[in-house]
Amino acid sequence: MSSHRVVADPSGASLAAEGCVGPRFLIIGAGMAGILSAVKLQEAGLTNVAIYEKASALGGTWRENTYPGVACDIPSHLYSYSFAPNPNWSHVFSPGAEIFSYFEEVARRYGVDRLIHFGAEVRLLEWRNGLWHLETNNGETDEGEFVIAATGVLHHPKYPDLDGLASFEGPVFHSARWDHSVPISHRRVGVVGTGSSAVQIVGAIVDEVAALKLFQRTPQWILPIENPPIDEEDQKRYQADPNAIEVLRKELAQTFEAHFANAVVDAASSEVKVLEELCRANLDQSVKDPALRERLRPDYRAACKRLVVSSNFYDAIQKPNADLVTEAIDHLSPTGIVTKDGALHELDVVVLATGFRVDRFLRPMDVVGRGGVLLDDVWADRPSAYLSLSVPDFPNLFMLNGPNGPVGNFSLIDVAELQFAYVEQLVAQVLAGRCREVSATHDALERFEAERVKAAQKTIWVSGCRSWYLDDRGIPAAWPWSFDHFRARMAAPKLEDYELVG
Ligand code: NAP
Repeated sequence: MSSHRVVADPSGASLAAEGCVGPRFLIIGAGMAGILSAVKLQEAGLTNVAIYEKASALGGTWRENTYPGVACDIPSHLYSYSFAPNPNWSHVFSPGAEIFSYFEEVARRYGVDRLIHFGAEVRLLEWRNGLWHLETNNGETDEGEFVIAATGVLHHPKYPDLDGLASFEGPVFHSARWDHSVPISHRRVGVVGTGSSAVQIVGAIVDEVAALKLFQRTPQWILPIENPPIDEEDQKRYQADPNAIEVLRKELAQTFEAHFANAVVDAASSEVKVLEELCRANLDQSVKDPALRERLRPDYRAACKRLVVSSNFYDAIQKPNADLVTEAIDHLSPTGIVTKDGALHELDVVVLATGFRVDRFLRPMDVVGRGGVLLDDVWADRPSAYLSLSVPDFPNLFMLNGPNGPVGNFSLIDVAELQFAYVEQLVAQVLAGRCREVSATHDALERFEAERVKAAQKTIWVSGCRSWYLDDRGIPAAWPWSFDHFRARMAAPKLEDYELVG
């Protein structure tokens, strides 16, 4: 460890440092959680921080998802850092570009941008002699006592295995790789998928394109939530009185916890039934043609898949230039998509809104832990981590929004803030000299996994649908308890669940 003196609060609960250098923290990823980590470390006086970012800009998911209509379906005043409220949000659910600018602005304001090594994709992390050794694809190397993996969940596009995909002569791209050089005005556009991304895209482009074909494999329940602008008067009020934002954040958090986060983990809850009713009424009242209505009606319970929120999707799909295709896709031809019934749907552009590979986390980088153990081997079946943040034999490496954490229906910023405050307490053990290495015990991870899998049986996610929440065994790779329970678990680490070495 660096010779500069770092002091921990006697309770071990908070961090402080004398001098500007302390142990080195290597943060992987300059998205929401990476920026958060750098802000918090600096706030604690831990200024020896580097962020490695593979792209040429920060912003994570908000850099990558630029498709028409992209927005967050968590209200913007809730989807903000607690320490950096933004009085100027334009909408209740602000557009993606505005969220991206928010992260840029926060990174600048807190001096995080100067810590970022851009274009530096980490290819190796190896624990050697009490330090994490890092190598990037562009030849940079570094070493540090701690790694914060802030690599995101919905990050690696999932491309469908469709016959003839390469034979299509027009542009084809994934929703998270939107090609803005491709004109869509007055073109025939096919969208594959009906998740949150596809629903936003359809609502945003239907009036611009000549024809829109939506290829639906499974219908979605749609929760109708309006997205009004926030008027100037309210913005001025928030500028003048930050406490008003705090009050609003609390209200929003309570609403989201009660009606979504806590509801979906109990399939029998009255809140889930309310969501189901709202979705059913939305479909029944919004779609006029009974045949189309039935083709849009899911045969599984609302919120089994990640709930889709939209105020314009049903309007969009009923427009004269829109067509819902429910026949399964057979293959792509040079001029369009051919469905199993033999029909050729002629298209100029195909958009694959087919979701993400959600089991990657730090991968594809090589991560080598204590005794040469490879993360790829440990995660050969599927990723797991104690409380979603620590893996046995990978000391001083902590994940934010790691495997099986709370992923749906709540602000991932809140999740990451709670996780980081917890990680700080583990780091404090090292800084206080109680140990040099800290990682979850095998036993703690096993117990956690067993509890998690058992609790998952009560959730709405196992009520009979296919979704990205489910792992290869059909078990939700998500936090199966209430948000209160998450908050309680994050309040303080149980040190007996950790191996403290040295
Ligand atoms: P997704 O929810 O995983 O949806 C993927 C869609 O593609 C599904 O409809 C799926 O059909 C379909 N699909 C996949 N492979 C296919 C194939 N081979 N043939 C035909 N259809 C295929 O992905 P997403 O829409 O990108 O959303 C992912 C998550 O990102 C969301 O659940 C949400 O957590 C987050 N997100 C949030 C927002 C927001 O805040 N508003 C916006 C976008 C994304 P099946 O249903 O049949 O599998």
